[in-house]
Amino acid sequence: MPARVVNVTAAPMTFMERLYLPAILKGMALTFSHFFRNLVDIKRLPTIQFPEMRRVYSERYRGRHILKTREDGSLKCVACYMCETACPADCIHIEAGEHPVLAYEKYPVKFEIDFLRCVMCGFCVDACPKDAIWMTKDYEMSYFDRESAIYGIEKLRETREDTAAGGPGYGYRPYYGESPMRKAGEFEPSGLALLPVLKKRAEAINRMPPPKAAPPAAKTA
Ligand code: SF4
Ligand code: SF4
Repeated sequence: MPARVVNVTAAPMTFMERLYLPAILKGMALTFSHFFRNLVDIKRLPTIQFPEMRRVYSERYRGRHILKTREDGSLKCVACYMCETACPADCIHIEAGEHPVLAYEKYPVKFEIDFLRCVMCGFCVDACPKDAIWMTKDYEMSYFDRESAIYGIEKLRETREDTAAGGPGYGYRPYYGESPMRKAGEFEPSGLALLPVLKKRAEAINRMPPPKAAPPAAKTA
């Protein structure tokens, strides 16, 4: 079978195309139509005027981390190293100490996250058994050197500004306050409560009858 030859030679330009001017005017007309439309109708702009305007991000946004505190102000973290172990970027560094309150046992003497290495995956939040590390919707993180990108306890501890009006607010966390399942105090899969499949599974678990009490052991002589 003879080889098929494809003609890729450009078609000769018409007289109007060779003038170039009509194409330039057409392009300018389009540019100016967008320019004037955006001047009079700024709401239709797909871009936002940062920092005066800010985009509303999802409740599950993975931004800067915070360490949650108990009612007495102490960190909820018990320095169990679960988050450090789960972290795929190896950017969490913890040093544990003995807590003066016996019930807490341990606390982090040092807790650091290197945000130049962090990939914002949220695995640390999922791994934490103490609900001690959450993420916020704060994405304004820039640094001039590596030292300032390493956040210690003083920068990670939750502050009022994190949740105040105009603040970043909570992002990715183990559960969400608005969840009807959470309000009912029922089973809720950590961090994945919004997934419909897991919700159905949770509903099925909640419908299960409570386990029957074991019969008392027979007395032996
Ligand atoms: S978000 Fe991911 S990468 Fe960042 S500290 Fe947590 S586990 Fe590590
Ligand atoms: S997993 Fe939670 S409790 Fe354990 S070290 Fe990390 S933040 Fe602390």
